[in-house]
Amino acid sequence: MRVVALAGGTGGAKLAEGLAAVLPPGDLTVIVNTGDDTERHGLLVMPDHDAVMYMLAGRFDFERGWGHVDETWTVMDGLAEYGEEAWFRLGDRDFATHIARSARIREGRAPTEVVRSLQEALGIATPILPMADAAVRTQVRTDEGWLDFQEYFVHLRQGPDVREVRFAGDLSPTPQVLDAVEAAEVIVIGPSNPIVSIGPILAGPIRALLEGRGTAGIPVVAVSPIVGGVALKGPADRMLVSLGHESSARGVARLYSGLATAFVLDTVDATQEPDVAALGLRTLVTDTIMADAAGRARLALAVLEFAGRP
Ligand code: GDP
Repeated sequence: MRVVALAGGTGGAKLAEGLAAVLPPGDLTVIVNTGDDTERHGLLVMPDHDAVMYMLAGRFDFERGWGHVDETWTVMDGLAEYGEEAWFRLGDRDFATHIARSARIREGRAPTEVVRSLQEALGIATPILPMADAAVRTQVRTDEGWLDFQEYFVHLRQGPDVREVRFAGDLSPTPQVLDAVEAAEVIVIGPSNPIVSIGPILAGPIRALLEGRGTAGIPVVAVSPIVGGVALKGPADRMLVSLGHESSARGVARLYSGLATAFVLDTVDATQEPDVAALGLRTLVTDTIMADAAGRARLALAVLEFAGRP
């Protein structure tokens, strides 16, 4: 069963890891958000791509919630000593990823091909495709004005309320993304922030392609990142409210209605199931918390089984 999963760097990344663990090698393709990407110290950093890559390689630091396991911080400390910016923390192993990637892109190779070479070096069978090869940068408007995403997310620790979101750059999908969507038999929208993780992916032409697949009878299954009205990590709940949506599984389902054909909500939100079904979505109520590898595989299997059900 050829499966395409859309992911950001936490919830969607965890479900992607679960899908990779339960599907035969080669059946899964992950499309990751690149709106979080940023240049730091002259290097291209791709936080969502790298979270998925480290997870699929078994190298993600689940305790810290980001980055590579067993990190050391020698380079960062050295940069700080020189007076370089130090609020965007990068570990030594992580720096190796950014150095290799940036050097290969500078040689003129496409980002999709370059990151695939990194994934292969880490033994990852699943292609992790950037949503676009051209630079796309998410920006958020706060009461202070427009901010680059990482300024808001890391430097200001998601403190200010977000009033508006925009995606600067060229959102054209790559040939690899087009082929994967065209070949998909199941499409999964992971439990990532619908505004700034899935939002950038859907802001471009990919949305119409996915809609076309759904209309053609391919299941497009979205998993709620909001559980019991809150985000398990990050600002998705506050962002939904400040942008005029409801911070609930139902609120997320409304955002995806017209695109998704099916929706997975957590057991604690079971009372919202009729409202979600009323949007025309097939529903599955299950435990969506992925506490460990077993939890990730369990939810992945539940989603696949649900997708395959008539
Ligand atoms: P980011 O790129 O690091 O901002 O991460 P994502 O956008 O991929 O993920 C953030 C969202 O993941 C939050 O809304 C969380 O509620 C959600 N999330 C994290 N872990 C889980 C989980 O185990 N289950 C579900 N259903 N959602 C989760």
